Amino acid sequence: MAEKAPVKSAPKPAAKGKNAGYKVYKHYTVKGGGFDRTNRFCPKCGPGVMMAKHKDRQTCGNCHYTEMSKQ
Ligand SMILES: [Zn+2]
Repeated sequence: MAEKAPVKSAPKPAAKGKNAGYKVYKHYTVKGGGFDRTNRFCPKCGPGVMMAKHKDRQTCGNCHYTEMSKQ
């Protein structure tokens, strides 16, 4: 018997003239729930505290320790 799979409700169309809410995703880079391997732990806070990776530096959100990336 070929039963139709339940159709999920279609996503709501974006508000006309606005794409509010979508841009937010660009701020996050989540890959399978893991972090990029270039992310490092804060040397001050120790393992468990990830440093946020920026374009040319990494910063600790806990103690604000900043480390410039080597080039
Ligand atoms: Zn820290």
